[in-house]
Amino acid sequence: MAAPVLRVDDLRVWYHTGRGPVKAVDGVTFDVISEERLGLVGESGSGKSTIALALMRLIRPPGKIESGSIRLDGVDVLEVSEEHMRRLRLATLALVAQGAMNSLNPVVRVREQIVDAMHDHDEHLPARAANERVISLLDQVGLRPEVADRFPHELSGGMKQRVCIAIAICLRPKVIIADEPTSALDVVVQRQVMETLERVQEMLNASVVLVGHDMGLMAQFVDRLGVMYAGRLVEVSPVNDVFAEPLHPYTQLLIASLPSFEHKGTFRGIPGLAPSLLDRPSGCSFHPRCPHAMPRCSIEDPSLTEVRPGRWVACHLYDASSVTP
Ligand code: SF4
Repeated sequence: MAAPVLRVDDLRVWYHTGRGPVKAVDGVTFDVISEERLGLVGESGSGKSTIALALMRLIRPPGKIESGSIRLDGVDVLEVSEEHMRRLRLATLALVAQGAMNSLNPVVRVREQIVDAMHDHDEHLPARAANERVISLLDQVGLRPEVADRFPHELSGGMKQRVCIAIAICLRPKVIIADEPTSALDVVVQRQVMETLERVQEMLNASVVLVGHDMGLMAQFVDRLGVMYAGRLVEVSPVNDVFAEPLHPYTQLLIASLPSFEHKGTFRGIPGLAPSLLDRPSGCSFHPRCPHAMPRCSIEDPSLTEVRPGRWVACHLYDASSVTP
């Protein structure tokens, strides 16, 4: 198997509050190989967006990366200086954040915003070359050259999001992190934005970490899917396997709750509520909601284990099935 371009090891990110630490990410390990698309899916508060920010080292107080490592092309991004990290952002690792289109400056033309992003990361081109680069980046995201002269308020949501993708790829990053890149867009525009992301990924031979809650979007876009619950990964598998045969009881319920043509008019939700990350249930965090819970589940915390080749799950139901190396 190809060497991972990104390796996250036992990552913990906590938010410190007066009532104690909120353990938003609590011992997460995964890797992404070159040109792979990995999805991280989960309910709100499952920790997936915190992982996206941690990968960029953009966690701000009261949040803190407590421990773990994030190795990007062999460099531990948690160990490098702030200046080194600034250079890694966009050049190696880029984020298309949730609601990124709202971060565009409404009174600055698109051209200037793309050039500013390049300047901020030490890419200083003569005016003519910079303009050519802007036009080429717009073309790569499917926007016409005249968009360079527009202000963001003159663009539709989908066009603004594509401008954000153009900014994210302006220094040809190896890994693109896309955190709910299509939230607040209608279905047709969502599709266009995802096609744009797919195209630029292929053009750059980059890897993508797609963070979101939309299982349909994940099914269409990613190669492997990591399912998050209460700050942890509970299943990581090739996406087709997850849909054909979900292993973790939470993944099974997530998939059963998707609308289907066969069961028109019926809606099956997941019983109970997601736990508070201030006071996680003992043992397996999912045990209060799990239809298969056994006495040991409230005592012993299952670890993420490869139970079949390429299929990782954190659940005591599979304790005897670990793959031996
Ligand atoms: Fe359910 Fe137990 Fe598996 Fe947790 S460890 S998902 S409670 S069966």
